[in-house]
Amino acid sequence: MSTDTRMAPIDPALAKRVGRTWSLTVVGAQDVAPRMRRVQFTGPELAEFSPRPGQEIILLLPQQSDEPLRRHYTIRHFDPAQKLLDVDFVLHGDSPAVRWAGSAQKGDALNVMGPRGRITMVPEAAWHLFAGDDTALPAIFSMVQALSAQAKVQVFLEVGDESDRQALDGGANATLEWLYRRGTRSDESLLLIERVAAFPLPDGAGHAYVLGETRKVRALRQELIARGLDREQISAEGYWRPGRVGGHDHILDPGMEQRRPG
Ligand SMILES: Cc1cc2nc3c(=O)[nH]c(=O)nc-3n(C[C@H](O)[C@H](O)[C@H](O)COP(=O)(O)OP(=O)(O)OC[C@H]3O[C@@H](n4cnc5c(N)ncnc54)[C@H](O)[C@@H]3O)c2cc1C
Repeated sequence: MSTDTRMAPIDPALAKRVGRTWSLTVVGAQDVAPRMRRVQFTGPELAEFSPRPGQEIILLLPQQSDEPLRRHYTIRHFDPAQKLLDVDFVLHGDSPAVRWAGSAQKGDALNVMGPRGRITMVPEAAWHLFAGDDTALPAIFSMVQALSAQAKVQVFLEVGDESDRQALDGGANATLEWLYRRGTRSDESLLLIERVAAFPLPDGAGHAYVLGETRKVRALRQELIARGLDREQISAEGYWRPGRVGGHDHILDPGMEQRRPG
């Protein structure tokens, strides 16, 4: 099925914030785990696309009779020579992005904006602590894979169960620990927070990256600040939360937070 991607003109202020629009075509789609679907795209102009590891694009999901819906998705992998871009979708329920990924087929067209996002890895850090849920797996893996083999890296990933595991090849020689919710709702699970709280932080000026469900990310950031990390040593972003549609949450100190529209 080919998708009509005609769009209403994009608000210039939005375009300034989120970058250029790219016309992409689906090359293929496959499940990389029972609850994770990878869609591979190409585009004639992708030779000019230069994302930093961990950055995202905004998908402009076409609607029958309305403006496209905007959804943020990490650039899981980008191959500039082949002009191939991979995006991994968590199949969390019956929602626009999940439906789009579920029916994506070779030849489908999609407009996206970007690359955008202030979070990328901090290569000079003495150590790196990555903590996130399923939605953060693409960002965490792409940052870890971009770090040098000598980098000292600990990763905690909270997922449903063993079937959600993926191989982490290349880049840093990371210690990766999977945490399994086993039926507990993702936004109610405390596993990641408890595990990070029990993790002894290494010496030196390290950097922590906490990504995923907003309430969990907020609690993780507060935990790390309480344990002595400076705010500048923490990159935190709320990727989703119950009831929120699209968008993202900047995680700041209490009373200072703002929800960013898509
Ligand atoms: C910078 C950034 C990068 C991201 N990268 C990825 C990525 O690589 N892969 C990925 O899968 N997601 C990623 N996300 C999260 C994704 O944008 C959201 O999950 C988004 O809401 C999905 O859109 P949707 O159309 O499926 O659901 P929406 O229409 O936005 O939401 C419908 C309902 O589903 C709930 N919901 C949304 N996401 C989840 C979830 N994961 N689990 C349970 N309930 C959920 C919402 O709270 C809402 O109630 C990223 C988000 C940000 C901000």
